Amino acid sequence: MSSLWPAGPRRVLVVGIDGVRLDLLPELHTPNLDAVAANGFLAPVEVDDATPTMSGPCWATITTGVTVAKHGVLGNHLGGNRLDVFPDFTTRLATVHRRRTFAVGGWEPLFLARQGGPLFAAPGRLSYVGPLEDTPEAWEVCDERVTTEAVTVLTGDDDPQATFVYLGAPDETAHFVGCGTEYRRSVEAADVRLGRLLAALESRPGYAAEQWTVIVVTDHGHVDQGGHGGRSPVERTAWVAACGPDLVPGGEVLPVRHVDVAAHVYAALQIVPDPHWTLDGRPFTPVTTLEPAAS
Ligand SMILES: [Zn+2]
Repeated sequence: MSSLWPAGPRRVLVVGIDGVRLDLLPELHTPNLDAVAANGFLAPVEVDDATPTMSGPCWATITTGVTVAKHGVLGNHLGGNRLDVFPDFTTRLATVHRRRTFAVGGWEPLFLARQGGPLFAAPGRLSYVGPLEDTPEAWEVCDERVTTEAVTVLTGDDDPQATFVYLGAPDETAHFVGCGTEYRRSVEAADVRLGRLLAALESRPGYAAEQWTVIVVTDHGHVDQGGHGGRSPVERTAWVAACGPDLVPGGEVLPVRHVDVAAHVYAALQIVPDPHWTLDGRPFTPVTTLEPAAS
């Protein structure tokens, strides 16, 4: 099979930013997100009818590539889930494909055996960097430390092939004080952190030969006064931005759903999903060159 893209080593970075409203993005200064979108796309995602507009179910769908009907995460308590059958991509890639993977963030149920977690059960490397207290300020400090840890790993000897970085401050800020000035500042701070992560990739000695896919994704929106879980358009509207091999700027992109994120991660690493995984997602692009994994 041939591909338009050079055959350099493939790597994927997924940056999950919790609770970022799509409708506010045009008013905010987010040059790094804009750069990802300009090199690929930024598309709205509608949280489907069966999925609560809650962080737990949405992040489970994003990282497993299957819907709540399969992964069974129905709320922010992850108990009763079926993640052993439908693992997140960092776990599946590490355990099935022996790929180096990494997940980092500060929200307990994603990373720790708390509240029925963790979602990230067995990545090759996992860092939990939690907030020291439950305040918007502490969450900004937490996300800053998460970013520093991610930069260290992304530029270090581990060389993860697939990485998930979780930034939670915008969501926490909206819950505390609504979607006003402080929330908007928090989204812009998350964009600065995205910029640090992108700069880390570009600083890698082998960067020029590498084929990086970058996916930035949010899980749900927020009502103006802060809060989500309902079915209003601002709560149900999420988004995905991505760039990388097979994603041509301005090129054709299928309607994007949360289940497509993990599917695109596998495609970006040229891994053909096993039919037994019963992925509900598909890569973002209509045609992607896939080759059997030579791992
Ligand atoms: Zn959330």
